Amino acid sequence: MSRMNPAYMDHNATTPVRPEVAEVINRFLGPAFGNPNSIHRFGREARSAVEEAREHAANLISALSPEEMIFTSGGTESDNWALRGAISAAGGGGHIVTSAIEHSAILDTCEVLEKSGVEITYINPNRKGLVSAVEVAAAIRPDTRIVSIMWANNEVGTVQPIEEIGALCRDKGVLFHTDAVQGVGKLSIDVNLACVDLLSASGHKINASKGVGFLYIRNGINIDPIITGGGQERDLRSGTENVPSIAGFGEACRIAKKEQPSESEKIASLRDKMENEICERIPDVVINGDSDNRVPGTSNLGFLGAEGETLLIRLDLEGFAVSTGSACSSGSTEPSHVLLSMGLPKDAIQGSLRFSLGWGSTEDDVSRLLEILPKAVERVRSIAPRARAASGS
Ligand SMILES: *Cc1c(COP(=O)(O)O)cnc(C)c1O
Repeated sequence: MSRMNPAYMDHNATTPVRPEVAEVINRFLGPAFGNPNSIHRFGREARSAVEEAREHAANLISALSPEEMIFTSGGTESDNWALRGAISAAGGGGHIVTSAIEHSAILDTCEVLEKSGVEITYINPNRKGLVSAVEVAAAIRPDTRIVSIMWANNEVGTVQPIEEIGALCRDKGVLFHTDAVQGVGKLSIDVNLACVDLLSASGHKINASKGVGFLYIRNGINIDPIITGGGQERDLRSGTENVPSIAGFGEACRIAKKEQPSESEKIASLRDKMENEICERIPDVVINGDSDNRVPGTSNLGFLGAEGETLLIRLDLEGFAVSTGSACSSGSTEPSHVLLSMGLPKDAIQGSLRFSLGWGSTEDDVSRLLEILPKAVERVRSIAPRARAASGS
């Protein structure tokens, strides 16, 4: 184990909670513990924190009204709700257009809906992980209930042509949802410019806590609730509000709005430096994704002839936290569905690692990585699957 502080390079899986955010969370775990639905002063204090958070969340994605923001338990719930809620509101059945590179929160939900008679069209991306707006529009049918295309991909970081897709959906009168969990806080997002009707975001990807997120629902758009009960969140999402997490998420949204352009520029240049140096110092490395069109912190690299998972474990021992593809599917050794659908060669998929930088990443982290990575890759390559394949096992 390295004696150095470990360097966290897995911000697409989750991010550290910023101290300003933790401070807000603690206040609502402590003295300000009221139920926002209570009429007395404890309730009013909690209520005003939730409503303030709603304003910050709306502001971050340039929503016209805070009423369009509904707090949920995170990105997964928001994604589930958008699809299930839209299908349910349309009376069930029908057709969904999505992409093959979505997060499992979308893909697995589509799979379940398919069993209930919904037809799904999955658009494949190109080799850089880009989904074509024209292909999306061409897949829309008279019975299409909703189009769902992610703003940015969590594994390779490719940013999709959301404004173009939004305009085409609006033109055809079809509901448009985007899983913007990896875009919010990293890119400038304007739901009106992009003609987005529904948008999912998650707290723990933008330096707030886990278990909180929101679904943006454009004014006038009707989807059915999937969680029913006490009628909170304008009767759209029941359950006593998670006040500490919501208040913290609001603070994270406020900070993100203020710092996003400069922070993104900083993170992107650190990522570019890291990537350029890696490609310079190590032979046979390919960049997976679209290097001209990515979210700031993400670098997905294919170390040809190495096994990504072995390299990940090696780096962990050296004090660097990275990921193979998506954290949500790790533990399984299934090859990444994103890289597969991009049509990458097996070698690039097998040897792929995702480095994702974010708030708190430093030049020092990157320099230390650059010192140890060439040797680590060399070692892992020397015990690569090729050797195993040769021995016939
Ligand atoms: C992390 C992630 C999710 C899930 O969000 P949770 O808040 O962890 O449920 C959904 N979509 C994308 C693209 C993600 O990166």
